[in-house]
Amino acid sequence: MPDFRVAVVGGGIGGLVLALALREHGISFEIYEQAEELREIGAAVALSANGTRELRRLGLGDQLEAISVVPSALVIRRWDTGEIIADPPIGRDGAYEASFGAPFFGVHRVALLQALAGRLSGEGLRLGHRCLGIEERRSGVEVHFANGASAVADVVVGADGVHSVIRPHVVGEVRGRFSGTIGYRGLVAVEHLPSLPDPTPLQFWAGPGRHLLHYAIDGGRTINFLAVVRVPEWTSAAWMEECAVSDAVEAFAGWHPAVTEMIGATDIGSRWALHDLAPLTRWHSDRVVLVGDAAHTMVPHQGQGANQTIEDTIVLADCLADLRTWGNVCSALSRYEERRRERTVAVQWLSRRTADLMHLPDGPQSADRDEQLADLYSELAWIHSYDAHAARAPAVGAA
Ligand SMILES: Cc1cc2nc3c(=O)[nH]c(=O)nc-3n(C[C@H](O)[C@H](O)[C@H](O)COP(=O)(O)OP(=O)(O)OC[C@H]3O[C@@H](n4cnc5c(N)ncnc54)[C@H](O)[C@@H]3O)c2cc1C
Repeated sequence: MPDFRVAVVGGGIGGLVLALALREHGISFEIYEQAEELREIGAAVALSANGTRELRRLGLGDQLEAISVVPSALVIRRWDTGEIIADPPIGRDGAYEASFGAPFFGVHRVALLQALAGRLSGEGLRLGHRCLGIEERRSGVEVHFANGASAVADVVVGADGVHSVIRPHVVGEVRGRFSGTIGYRGLVAVEHLPSLPDPTPLQFWAGPGRHLLHYAIDGGRTINFLAVVRVPEWTSAAWMEECAVSDAVEAFAGWHPAVTEMIGATDIGSRWALHDLAPLTRWHSDRVVLVGDAAHTMVPHQGQGANQTIEDTIVLADCLADLRTWGNVCSALSRYEERRRERTVAVQWLSRRTADLMHLPDGPQSADRDEQLADLYSELAWIHSYDAHAARAPAVGAA
């Protein structure tokens, strides 16, 4: 489709993967990213098989492997004694890839963005373009930027994250839902964690009203963690605020020394209010469509926000490539929404539910949970086994 142009607003994980997928289909694109250089808030991201399968297909397999760490296992421990509740292998014996058909990686976010941009060779990437708004017409969409530039495209994709400026055009103003949990994030060198029983797994420490998740990045030398605390409310208008390290350390007082040591070893200066979005009433207009956090922000307790974003982009690129079959742009966008809505709503729900389960008080309920966790991989198969390409519906009229 040589004359068909897609403008992607946002050069995060979603925008860059979408560009690679569009390129595979021979669809022209420009990515408009507000930042002057590719950077990410937060340290690392965990990519599961439903995401890595697609990145491999886009030719990033070797590079991704080189910058990532494969956790040895997915371990869940008790908050105080460190007793192991569940321990399904990931890298150990290649068990995860054998089950789900693609690897599980922990990777530094900036390294991932650079790998994606490197694969694009800078094609179509316009940094320093902060989108202020769009005007949609019957024949196309005009995009306006803070630097005075503007652009015209056949389709505009809002890949501009949780505070999307494109979303209001599609669905009006939507407020995020506070999940009742806040997160402290940090990076710690492994040598500062003498009490940590094993630095190699992706590990949850679960306890009443709190949990800690951590995994290794940077060749196994650094531990990335997210410490989550249940709180009654969040009153600040901002979703992130500065705080003292002692706030986080006090929140985990009495926990296993590996936990308090990890949190205390950082220079954490901020806490994040973890929000998600209630399912949107629509994901697209005639020529404007949302992907990733702009469409379905989720809390991070299943590690699926970026992975679901990757799935979105693959499906959207497929639907745009089938444009001739669907007749017009709006039908292609409807097809995309149809294929993505139910699944992402289910993952959003499970992401919230995961924190509820992790945070159960000690007693009979947590004992039941521990029994269920013994078969964790069967519980997660519907997420991690998913193959966004294979789920592609046959084109109408195809033999
Ligand atoms: C604590 C935490 C931990 C997480 N851990 C994981 C994990 O382990 N695994 C996982 O799968 N997910 C995880 N996530 C979720 C994941 O980070 C997001 O779902 C993912 O980054 C969404 O990608 P995106 O491209 O939609 O948005 P973003 O990554 O937010 O990218 C949006 C891009 O748009 C740009 N932008 C914004 N506004 C404009 C504008 N007006 N004009 C131009 N550009 C604009 C931004 O600068 C940014 O580059 C986590 C989230 C949190 C909060």
